[in-house]
Amino acid sequence: MNDKGILIILSGFAGSGKGTIISELLKKYDNYVLSVSATTRPAREGEVDGKHYFFKTEDEFKEMIANGELLEYANYVGNYYGTPRQFVKEQLAAGRDVILEIETEGALNIKREYPDAVLIFVMPPSVEEIHNRLKMRGTETDEVIRKRMIKAGVEITVVDRYDYLMINDVLSESVELFNSIVMCQHMAVSRNRDYINAKKQEFEEYLNNTKEN
Ligand code: 5GP
Repeated sequence: MNDKGILIILSGFAGSGKGTIISELLKKYDNYVLSVSATTRPAREGEVDGKHYFFKTEDEFKEMIANGELLEYANYVGNYYGTPRQFVKEQLAAGRDVILEIETEGALNIKREYPDAVLIFVMPPSVEEIHNRLKMRGTETDEVIRKRMIKAGVEITVVDRYDYLMINDVLSESVELFNSIVMCQHMAVSRNRDYINAKKQEFEEYLNNTKEN
């Protein structure tokens, strides 16, 4: 079978629980790696540079753009966020399934450049739940929460351009659903043309060799 990794994009409203799905997935399965983004957003308490994000000044971020170091980038609620290109390229070539946890604008830009990328959108069970989760997290002011809710209202308008929708109600189920989507993608005929052609060839050789007997 094709041994190249799959590029998976997970988007979802702030408070959808996408970060938790990914951290559980990484604990359970070893075929996945998470791309660490660069951002100009200030670090939240407990966030570690190089682990949660590469925290950059606006000038540093713009230099990364100018040097072509980013696969995609977008502005989200006043801050820049972008995906470092090199890591993704290397990991896919090494056969790892690479997860990008990014917002919708960046996701759709990637899909244009990499039609093979799999886009998954995760939603909480209800709109109130989004607000509650953001409030409970306690990391944002009411003003920022409001902006993120407005952004969620915009993001929902592009969900129909995604490949899969997941409702994140029970965490363990969401983790398994995510993994099932990716495993099915590995088996897609469109990703295994070379393998199929090699098997056709093998059959031809077998039949040729046994023809005389
Ligand atoms: P947060 O500030 O809550 O960590 O992230 C805000 C939003 O930015 C989330 O929707 C997150 O998925 C998105 N995001 C994080 N990294 C990237 C990135 O590299 N590119 C894009 N386009 N969005 C990102």
